[in-house]
Amino acid sequence: MTQSVFKTVIARYKTIQTNQHQWIQPEFKVPQFDLVWNRDYSLNQDCFSVNTLNGRIKLAYCSQGMEKYFDKEIYKFGTAKLVYRHKKYFLHIPVTFEVSECANSDICNVVGIDRGINFVVTTYNSKHQSGFVSGKTIKQKRGHYKNLRKQLQQVRTPSSRKRLKAIGQRENRWMQDINHQVSKALVENNPEHTLFAEKIKLKNRYVSVSWAFYDLEQKLIYKAIQHHDKVIKVNPAYTSQCCPMCGHTEKANRNKKIHLFCCKNCGYKSNDDRIGAMNLYRMGIDYLVPDTVTAE
Ligand SMILES: [Zn+2]
Repeated sequence: MTQSVFKTVIARYKTIQTNQHQWIQPEFKVPQFDLVWNRDYSLNQDCFSVNTLNGRIKLAYCSQGMEKYFDKEIYKFGTAKLVYRHKKYFLHIPVTFEVSECANSDICNVVGIDRGINFVVTTYNSKHQSGFVSGKTIKQKRGHYKNLRKQLQQVRTPSSRKRLKAIGQRENRWMQDINHQVSKALVENNPEHTLFAEKIKLKNRYVSVSWAFYDLEQKLIYKAIQHHDKVIKVNPAYTSQCCPMCGHTEKANRNKKIHLFCCKNCGYKSNDDRIGAMNLYRMGIDYLVPDTVTAE
């Protein structure tokens, strides 16, 4: 147990050095303790066994919902962290398992994913179907939180600061939950061995929502890997201006105000976010057949 304390403190120093590039004395405001698998703790379906200052103790616990992780051929438990949050102790147990990588030759479906404010995601897939997730309610709720924060910032009392922090945390949890639902739907609504083509994040665009954008991307990537899918990022240049039908690229093709794309060359019309998803879909197809030369 003493060794675990050393390890935890060293790890914290290393994190500080990596993030701040200097030595700052770490502070442990709330108690935490690392437990090494098979040395400090072990568990099976019926029993949790753990080292304490008074020796090893064995406890009954509820393993409902985690049955599959007891398959030792597939899953390995790692160093668990005992943390104190909301006046309760929680034990976080990490689980590691191998996932086979999705080969390009296995890919059976391509999905272009465009992202924006009016629609959180717009998709276009190999069956030529488009999908939209509206961003309207998210936009409204974020606005509501913004107003709340503004009001509290003007008060400047210890209790208002506390409430401000709590509201910020609540907003983050709500946004993370939305991202979980959206990424889950994206993965589950497509067959295994799907290739998702996403835009590379443009610097300083969508600054106010960048954290939420990044969070959704991370959630999509880890869910996709578990589902034997692949996620690639493609250069978004001209994805909103290029006609998916004839390839004509012109800024005037897109009317941002009324969210309409109308090709100046061939007259093809569609919702502008859908055009972005269609072009990302095409870039996903190009990625799979990079040597294809289009005949003139
Ligand atoms: Zn066109």
